[in-house]
Amino acid sequence: MTSRMRRRLLAATLAAPFARRASAQPLTCGTQTPRQTEGPFFTPDSPRRTSLVEKGAKERFVLEGLVLTPQCRPVANALVDLWHADEQGEYDNRGFRYRGHTFTDAEGRYRFETIVAGLYPGRTRHYHVKVQAPKRRILTTQLYFPGEPGNARDGIHRPELEMKVDKDTGRFDFVVDA
Ligand code: FE
Repeated sequence: MTSRMRRRLLAATLAAPFARRASAQPLTCGTQTPRQTEGPFFTPDSPRRTSLVEKGAKERFVLEGLVLTPQCRPVANALVDLWHADEQGEYDNRGFRYRGHTFTDAEGRYRFETIVAGLYPGRTRHYHVKVQAPKRRILTTQLYFPGEPGNARDGIHRPELEMKVDKDTGRFDFVVDA
């Protein structure tokens, strides 16, 4: 055995226990995203569109992320339905202002362009969403803004449902049963 081979063998022996430990630990994206109440303002059959921005809107907010299985596999063609209050804290219960749905791409990505959800009495700032992997159960939940003063006073708010917000973009990865 040459010294080079011996060195390689030694390196492989040293590396093996670590390699075994790493592969024994299944990749996990955590438990399923918690479910939350739909609230009183859901309207079915929202339009399919990725921009909910209305004419004359002064600001933009992008909501984007992934839909994943608990084993971190991207879920393609998952439905993501979004609805939220307008700048005045009102829901459009007759039409579809600030309501829309999209489907994830092959990498499990979704993206909406909208505005920061308006505030209304009794709640902290939030988005409503329904997420559904193809032919699976619908996950209804809500997303929150980190650092929002109303979070601490809102009995429904959960810190694990806060988006990661960077300037005008909020990121949230949903974990669903798929
Ligand atoms: Fe609401």
